[in-house]
Amino acid sequence: MPIISRNCFISSTIGAMAAVPLRAYAQTRPAPPLVRVNVNPARVIRTVVGLRPFRRYGFVLRAEAFGNKTIVHNYGHGGGGFSLSWGCATLAADLLAARSPGRAAVIGCGVIGLSTARVLQDRGWDVSIYASSVPPNTTSNIAGAQWTPTVVFASQDATSEFLETFRRAARIANRAFQLMAGPTYGVLWIDNYALKHAATERDELDYAVSAGIEDLYQDIETIDPATTPFAVPMVRRFTTMLIEPNTYLPAVMRDFLLRGGKIEVRTFATLRQVHDLAEHVVFNCTGLGARALCNDGELVPVRGQLTVLEPQADVDYIYLANGLYMFPRNDGIVLGGTFDRGDWSLAVDRAQQARILTEQAAIYRSS
Ligand SMILES: Cc1cc2nc3c(=O)[nH]c(=O)nc-3n(C[C@H](O)[C@H](O)[C@H](O)COP(=O)(O)OP(=O)(O)OC[C@H]3O[C@@H](n4cnc5c(N)ncnc54)[C@H](O)[C@@H]3O)c2cc1C
Repeated sequence: MPIISRNCFISSTIGAMAAVPLRAYAQTRPAPPLVRVNVNPARVIRTVVGLRPFRRYGFVLRAEAFGNKTIVHNYGHGGGGFSLSWGCATLAADLLAARSPGRAAVIGCGVIGLSTARVLQDRGWDVSIYASSVPPNTTSNIAGAQWTPTVVFASQDATSEFLETFRRAARIANRAFQLMAGPTYGVLWIDNYALKHAATERDELDYAVSAGIEDLYQDIETIDPATTPFAVPMVRRFTTMLIEPNTYLPAVMRDFLLRGGKIEVRTFATLRQVHDLAEHVVFNCTGLGARALCNDGELVPVRGQLTVLEPQADVDYIYLANGLYMFPRNDGIVLGGTFDRGDWSLAVDRAQQARILTEQAAIYRSS
């Protein structure tokens, strides 16, 4: 199966747009003291696999008539579903802004279904969620989940109309997460170190520039690599948010239930089965499930395997290094770096785990 890197989706637009200056890029500063992650196989507490619902043309956000129902599709957010969730939920609800609120069904209880359901409630809709699986058993529970909408589209395939929608969604969602920062939702601000072995490598900030969302990353600085523990010649720092899925998803689900929402565990074998629902308005937030439901052959899995080490409370930063990444969450140090397109396997690949551990350990200079 083709293996892709986190940033391969940006290649075709980067050349034209890389000249956009980043704030403070020219200034070089020392890094604050950074505690090393103890990348020791004996510290692995679990390894998990999730399938990113990826479409090279980007997510589907569209309303259509379906018999006597109206279906609003909101699926296919790839590796950026958390980051885009509130934005796509808002834009999905906007598609029915001309209607008076009534009863609405949301199919799907991942981060997209939950945020769509909450936005609809805030607009006065009476919402029921129907889903085959609910947190903690969704793909959304597997996510990293750093606020960075990456691996969402292929730059050579995304239309300018899609990119405009993408940027709007990213801006709305970024603001929404800012307002949720704190322990209740498990959203925190964190320093990120983007590491490069060579100028030809693309980091998260290059991606942000090419996607036109660099203003959503704060405090961008070039860091003197000699002041860091990293074994690379180029280091940039920026600030973004990190979300703890195991805190965040139950909190949003609680908000939904507190506002009178209902959740029913139910599987739809075909889209036609929505005709069994009493609601005339249905939001399709089924992630990868939409491939079969909507016969959408463009929707493919991009498999991601995460190896989680015992928590290390003194590690208070993220690093991103040419596809490899480390997120220090309360439930463990999350090590990622696999992007296997077209791979449906949910089985843990031990060889891949060993490779990730070796490569992650090599991020640091030998001391
Ligand atoms: C390893 C990994 C790392 C990631 N890291 C990040 C990150 O750092 N930042 C970020 O923003 N995103 C990240 N993501 C991406 C993010 O997890 C996804 O984009 C997001 O979870 C998609 O949400 P969803 O609600 O569409 O899908 P899901 O969470 O899969 O939810 C789909 C819902 O639909 C239901 N469903 C599906 N089919 C049917 C059916 N036929 N009948 C009834 N119900 C159905 C399911 O049961 C489920 O409830 C990562 C993903 C992975 C795998």
